[in-house]
Amino acid sequence: MYPRVILKETLYKKSQQKRRTSPCNYKERTFILNTQDLAYFEQRPGKKPTQKGCIELSHIKCVEIVRSDVPIPCDYKYPFQIIHDSYYLYVFAPDNDCRLKWVKALKEAIQNNSLFLKYHPDFWGEGKWRCCQQTEKLATGCSEYYPNGAKPLPPTPDPSRRSSEPEERIVVALRNFIPKEHTDLPLQKDEEYFIVDCSEPNWWTVKDKDGNVGSVPCIYVTEKLSNNIEKFEWYNKDINRTEAEDLLMQENKDGGFMVRNSKHAGVYTVSIFTRVSGSNGEKCPQVKHYQIKVQSEGEKVLYYLAEKYLFPTIPELIRYHQHNPAGLITRLRHCVSRNVPNSARIKELSSDKWEIHPDEVKLSVELGSGQFGLVWKGSWQDREVAVKTVREGFMSEEEFKEEAQVMMKLSHNRLVQLYGVVTQRSPIYLVFEFMENGCLTEFLRAKKGKLSQKALLEMCLDVSEGMAYLESSNFIHRDLAARNCLVSENSVVKIADFGMTRFVLDDQYTSSHGSKFPVRWSSPEVIKFGKYSSKSDVWSFGVFMWEVYSEGRTPYDNRSNSEVVETLNAGHRLLKPRLCPQSVYELMQWSWKEKPEDRPSFALLLHELACLDQEP
Ligand code: ADP
Repeated sequence: MYPRVILKETLYKKSQQKRRTSPCNYKERTFILNTQDLAYFEQRPGKKPTQKGCIELSHIKCVEIVRSDVPIPCDYKYPFQIIHDSYYLYVFAPDNDCRLKWVKALKEAIQNNSLFLKYHPDFWGEGKWRCCQQTEKLATGCSEYYPNGAKPLPPTPDPSRRSSEPEERIVVALRNFIPKEHTDLPLQKDEEYFIVDCSEPNWWTVKDKDGNVGSVPCIYVTEKLSNNIEKFEWYNKDINRTEAEDLLMQENKDGGFMVRNSKHAGVYTVSIFTRVSGSNGEKCPQVKHYQIKVQSEGEKVLYYLAEKYLFPTIPELIRYHQHNPAGLITRLRHCVSRNVPNSARIKELSSDKWEIHPDEVKLSVELGSGQFGLVWKGSWQDREVAVKTVREGFMSEEEFKEEAQVMMKLSHNRLVQLYGVVTQRSPIYLVFEFMENGCLTEFLRAKKGKLSQKALLEMCLDVSEGMAYLESSNFIHRDLAARNCLVSENSVVKIADFGMTRFVLDDQYTSSHGSKFPVRWSSPEVIKFGKYSSKSDVWSFGVFMWEVYSEGRTPYDNRSNSEVVETLNAGHRLLKPRLCPQSVYELMQWSWKEKPEDRPSFALLLHELACLDQEP
């Protein structure tokens, strides 16, 4: 019986003999896939096509698209790879649909082969694998190979939708992203992408301008917003004040909010649910309504809510207040909508990535008591860990669970690593890297008089490194202070508790008037408007450096919180600690500039500190 032809098409292939990429390396070939083999032919005008190669299907171990951001020097820009015996063949299709068609057909044809368990998602080139930097061409792959897509394969782009792009939601990449798995899409900083699916809290499916579709971490992109609010879940068009109050009360979630039409035509209102402490300490539910106000500046219309933070669109205004209360009774935490049942909206994360089984964690000694609850030393997977138990009602567990995956992805040797979470029991456990020398404040106090200038500077350097990483990840710490840094066995200082204050429900911690609010570490715009940014973290870092050079003293220790605010308003700042060199104090003063934009970035602070470290 003759083999049946499955696909036939002209594609490009990259020659295998030459190591370096050059235009002449790419050859146009007619590929014919039949039920037995994949053959490719050279077409010459007026002559019979000559077969240049043939791969028996039974020898193929992996077929997959190549995820890469390298420029491709031939006309066909959509690469896929075929691995057979010990050879890698790169083939280039003219468009993504064609590439997916070939990959799918080949995968079907080889489904009974014994396939690779791991593969390389990016190209081999210039003597190394671009995905994992291994220099051995036959090195085992660095990514799991799921021929049928364990993580659901992103939908293929639908060409008929091209004309409807004005309605599509667009994101802009904040930084480059190199794919980790075959279903990921590379991101190029400042490029625009269309959102295909943003229902997962952390990984979104986006499409690039060439129609390639794949997953990206949502913290790497930011939505480019138009003023069309209809598509947002938080917009409840035809809900009046009473209905809004009923719905928010029913949801009963602190920070529950919606945007609705006000009874005045053309005006929008934001309704927010919160629980406020009554005089007897009891929490009373309450709904507040804020009109979205409009200010004209020449041709431009700007929107604002409580305080005059002006935004060109309502979605941008909402996004800002999702992170900053800035005059509202609380920040906008959960969108509440009549249109979609809540259970469908808030998707539970696939728990396997971060959930630790309760039986795997053994607690041994109590280390101390923190804001959230007791902290224990313990063990997990044969390593020492610190386990934070969370007092019931102290933290918004639902929000934390949504965020835990993002926090686990933040990984740097100057950050205390979050390993995972135990949520199947109460209180929930947060499992962290164990830090032998405990909290930095205590460490400084215990070593008072014994730490060298070099050791003090190294501590500032350690933390500026970790903060520069958070800054580049667009992640705001919000509570940087020596008490939230920990010391390892070999005296490396690492940053802990990043972003955690967002989940604290007790307003004594979260409101700038609360007795437990870290006023002494907070910048003026945080105290006044709750406006957090990497630049407000820079202010706190200035105070952190002051704590280091004061060997663990409390900043402004002879003043009350309200006196601290007065001192700052009068333009005064912390004085130079005795041990602090003038050059380091200048960095502190720079970090305490009134206007956030006048403060240095962490990248710059790190550079400055590193220069000081090199001085004799
Ligand atoms: P919280 O941030 O909830 O207030 P802390 O981080 O201050 O809690 O933890 C309380 C105490 O537990 C710290 O002072 C420290 O001694 C200990 N601790 C916390 N995390 C760790 C850790 N990762 N490794 C070792 N000890 C820790």
